[in-house]
Amino acid sequence: MAFEINTKNNIRDRFKCAPRPEIWKDTEPKDWNNWVWQQQKRIKSMEVLEKVIAVTDEERGAFAQSHDMFNMGITPYYASLIDPNDPNCPIRLQSVPKAGELNILPTELEDPLGEEADMPVPGITHRYPDRVLFYTTHNCPVYCRHCTRKRKVSDPSSSAANKQLEESLAYIEAHKEIRDVVISGGDPLSNSDDRLEYILSRLRAMEHIQIFRLGTRNLVTLPQRITESFANMLKKYHPVFIHTHFNHPKECSQEAFDACARLADAGCVINNQMVLLKGVNDDPKTVLELNHKLLMMRVRPYYIFQCDQAQGISHFRTPIETGLKIIESLRGWTSGMAVPHFVIDGPGGGGKIPLLPKYLLKREGNKWTFRNYKNKEYVYIDTSEPGSVETIASEKK
Ligand code: SF4
Repeated sequence: MAFEINTKNNIRDRFKCAPRPEIWKDTEPKDWNNWVWQQQKRIKSMEVLEKVIAVTDEERGAFAQSHDMFNMGITPYYASLIDPNDPNCPIRLQSVPKAGELNILPTELEDPLGEEADMPVPGITHRYPDRVLFYTTHNCPVYCRHCTRKRKVSDPSSSAANKQLEESLAYIEAHKEIRDVVISGGDPLSNSDDRLEYILSRLRAMEHIQIFRLGTRNLVTLPQRITESFANMLKKYHPVFIHTHFNHPKECSQEAFDACARLADAGCVINNQMVLLKGVNDDPKTVLELNHKLLMMRVRPYYIFQCDQAQGISHFRTPIETGLKIIESLRGWTSGMAVPHFVIDGPGGGGKIPLLPKYLLKREGNKWTFRNYKNKEYVYIDTSEPGSVETIASEKK
């Protein structure tokens, strides 16, 4: 029997292209789809932003007062995802300054993760024994208003010049205990392909280095950056893991879908690290939709981060309970692959601490009582404990 193959079930068709705002209506596709053009045309001023969205007085004031501390930068592509008439659009909240940024709480820290304290040479954070964070640029296509590294991101004076790059590589080469390198920034994909390949080739030549991770938001903010030639270049240096940062289902466009497909087809494993942000994704329905879309894009929901103690982001912070409720709403109700780890970064350098709803209800000797996702109780007898099997047998008599 011949089986007829249905070819009308392309999952890509479920993702929509970003709509093109009027200001770029006549832009040639060769420009719009070119990541260098997108970088060059980033929105950095209110004059241009006013041509794309209906800017509010609050946003205008916040831009004027925050500009010296943390730049605004929005790619035309990411701006096209903004609802021009909704001041609470989740894409807009992440990319356009708000008055909340000017409010610095006494509990907030310039370096909330204590990355500078664990810096043996400029450009390397070496906190855990077998892995390092390697800064390669200060630049990002979009300056996310909730960024943890506001202290250096967007500041050209913090850029990793070639001398610093060589010192960082020399440090990694000298430390044979390092097996995993997180290449970061800013966004490392702001580097040219040649510079990135130089870094990857130097690292791959080191016997003790096993894996690399590229921490990048380009899949979200500038998917045009993921060209065929870039993806093909990565193939030479596997295993390469991509850690990206989708925060809302609106970011899952067809352009983003294609960028993820190019990387997945090239053999990269893609993980998502969502940050929990008030007004953006602090409800179970949004996170569920995001995670389902990510899986269709071959991206594994990996972490949900509690918003850290970086300065000027208190307007984004949610109660810890919110994250726990979101995990509770996912676990058991959808595929385990769609349930990320909810973590909080210990302020000042404590590392990632996992947070879980309470599923263990009590322990009586070798009897452990748990509840499942529907709140039904289950008892597990731990027979690995000495004498437990004999006790059960005598109880049964
Ligand atoms: S892409 Fe990452 S490093 Fe760059 S501004 Fe956004 S959160 Fe910060």
